[in-house]
Amino acid sequence: MSTYIGKQAIVIGAGMGGLSAARAVSDFFEQVVVLERDTLPTNPIHRMGTPQSQHVHALLTSGLNALRALFPSFEQDLIRAGAVPLKVALDVRLERPGFDPFPQRDLGWLVYSMSRPLLEHTVRRQLHEYPNITVRQRCRAESVSTTADGGRVRAVQCKTRDGTSEVLPADMVIDASGRGSPTLAVLRSLGGPPPEETVIGVDCHYTTALIPIPPTAPTDWKGVFTFPEAPTSTSGALMLPIEGNRWIVGLGGQHGASAPAEWEGFLRFAEQLRTPTVYDAIKHAAPPERLPQFGFPESVWRHFERLPDLPTGLLPLGDSICRFNPIYGQGMSVATHEALALHRLLNSRRVLGDPLVGLSGAFFEEALALIDAPWAIAASLDFVYPQTRGQRPPDFENTLKFGRALNRIAALDPAVHKLTLEVQHLLKPRSALRTPELVERVQAEMAAMS
Ligand SMILES: Cc1cc2nc3c(=O)[nH]c(=O)nc-3n(C[C@H](O)[C@H](O)[C@H](O)COP(=O)(O)OP(=O)(O)OC[C@H]3O[C@@H](n4cnc5c(N)ncnc54)[C@H](O)[C@@H]3O)c2cc1C
Repeated sequence: MSTYIGKQAIVIGAGMGGLSAARAVSDFFEQVVVLERDTLPTNPIHRMGTPQSQHVHALLTSGLNALRALFPSFEQDLIRAGAVPLKVALDVRLERPGFDPFPQRDLGWLVYSMSRPLLEHTVRRQLHEYPNITVRQRCRAESVSTTADGGRVRAVQCKTRDGTSEVLPADMVIDASGRGSPTLAVLRSLGGPPPEETVIGVDCHYTTALIPIPPTAPTDWKGVFTFPEAPTSTSGALMLPIEGNRWIVGLGGQHGASAPAEWEGFLRFAEQLRTPTVYDAIKHAAPPERLPQFGFPESVWRHFERLPDLPTGLLPLGDSICRFNPIYGQGMSVATHEALALHRLLNSRRVLGDPLVGLSGAFFEEALALIDAPWAIAASLDFVYPQTRGQRPPDFENTLKFGRALNRIAALDPAVHKLTLEVQHLLKPRSALRTPELVERVQAEMAAMS
């Protein structure tokens, strides 16, 4: 007897969300087809459809855990492909005002650093293990159609590069297109309102260089994060080692800070950062061929959870629901956890007569819980700049002071240091930082600081 709940699921987009979702639903549908408009490279190199992939992409431990759960041999494959293991809090030199550097210590926990193309390539390779998943490249989803009453998805219309159109029947359609346009188009065609949005105008700008790590590289760190003296400056640097013995160096900032796309200007920007660490490390490098740039004007959270149920079988996922300020490295972790949540939900609902009815409401509740914490972490830092647009979190000044005092305690106390990182890596809820004992210590520190 078949244990599947449907014949075919279509996933729009072969980015991190789409690939993870394809794996998640492959246990429940006879066939899963991933449609990707790009040509998918056979090597881990950049492709057009994910322009952000040329920039630093840190994978938080929470995201690593989700990928481990979805793909049992993911971690081994990632290591074999050349990802660089980093000891959290030890191997990356964290430079923030008042701590240059923040105490480096081994907290007994590893993360991996690699380019986004390598990460995606590794996940794509993992999908080969699942014979019922097909990835169709150079195939753009043009629209999603529903039954006449709009109650259920029916098919996806797509177009290949040679102009051939096809209609693919679908019991389920996951919109992992990054922009959510297919879902919004369905809502429009049914005459429904679009989801409400929460928007934070952050105006981030990245310019990125890939450079070989020289033999003279410092030995007391493998990567550096240099944070600005906020709010007077917004310029900073994110520099990590990646496969191929290279550094990926991202310079930029918010609200107008932007490093030039030519090498001399890029170096001058590095030289003017708050500390000389990054400049000293890269100043003798040969100019890279290209210095790609990326502008990210605003974080956007679409509140699908506030709408009545979507047509049965239709689900947006990943950036189609929420695009986070990239500086905090949360987007891929949330997208992969949404895929895991979808797996859990389908598994628990497979006993129901029609497991897809009401799925979107249940999924958006899970997504809300997954998005809430990283969104709040980002907002609590974004609004340090008066230029940031949007609704400031309540009691913002106090939250800022609390954060500063907590950092001072974390610098001295390895257990608190570990706890703050567990929250940043989305392993523990923010409430873990509000236990009565810790709040008391932080309040004492706040009093001492004032
Ligand atoms: C500069 C920058 C740096 C970032 N750094 C980090 C970081 O350090 N850590 C982190 O976790 N996150 C980071 N992010 C966020 C991360 O890139 C996204 O959250 C993540 O890629 C979301 O995955 P997704 O699958 O939803 O969308 P995407 O990865 O954007 O994938 C969407 C895919 O859909 C395809 N597509 C679109 N429309 C169609 C269509 N009609 N038909 C077929 N295919 C289609 C696209 O070609 C693409 O392949 C960063 C983002 C930016 C902009």
